[in-house]
Amino acid sequence: MPNVLITGANKGIGLAFAQSFAVDGWKVHACCRQPDKAKELKAIEGDVVLYKLDVSDGLRVAGLAREMIDDPIDILINNAGYFGPRLEFGEIDYDDWTYTFQINTMGPLRMVENFVEHLASSDRKLVVNVSSKMGSLNANETGGQYVYRSSKAALNAVTKSLSIDLKDKGITVISVHPGHVQTDMGGEEAPVTIGKSVSGLRKLIAKVTEEDTGQFFDFDGSTIPW
Ligand code: NDP
Repeated sequence: MPNVLITGANKGIGLAFAQSFAVDGWKVHACCRQPDKAKELKAIEGDVVLYKLDVSDGLRVAGLAREMIDDPIDILINNAGYFGPRLEFGEIDYDDWTYTFQINTMGPLRMVENFVEHLASSDRKLVVNVSSKMGSLNANETGGQYVYRSSKAALNAVTKSLSIDLKDKGITVISVHPGHVQTDMGGEEAPVTIGKSVSGLRKLIAKVTEEDTGQFFDFDGSTIPW
């Protein structure tokens, strides 16, 4: 049975990914900070195993990788993310910037460093870094949002280097933009429903091959310039 490991699986896009893969008969390793409170995640029918995981906690990430030593991971979805306070030029909170980097940039790399052998021993060998178009330098026409933009731009740099470094192991690494989605982060007025985003991303994930490694994709399957 194919399996997927998802971070931040208790709500929003991560929860929808967990539901979607479980319905299709995948084994889902669902990670979140407070599994006890993850009611919707616990309610999913299917082969779903919950793990407590804060991606900024290096010891815990390493511990989980050891716990799962006998589990090959077909797909790792680095979904957990944090927008941080929406501070503009002249208002930046540098501590919060560091914290945002720990989650959005260092978290995904730390996951891959710890789970690289689980990925390498699987059939699918795919890492999906949930980035954002806000991290695209080309697409930035409005400025501002220094903290979130830079954390996702740096995540894209991580994706690119991983795609080169892990090629020999046959591991494919991509960044994706899920759209501007109706979640706690995206807000109620966002144009894209969670369902539309995740069904687009599932189609993309199903199609991605080793040739696509190091690319940045929109949820409709098109590529986004860095
Ligand atoms: P939500 O705010 O609904 O969910 C964010 C998830 O990340 C939650 O499960 C949250 O857990 C988890 N998380 C935050 N910090 C940590 C941490 N330190 N360790 C583990 N988990 C953590 O947002 P979305 O579902 O919208 O976001 C999912 C991804 O999509 C993010 O990476 C986001 O940046 C990206 N994205 C979203 C867009 C949108 O419009 N919604 C647009 C572009 C990108 P908890 O509940 O414990 O806080």
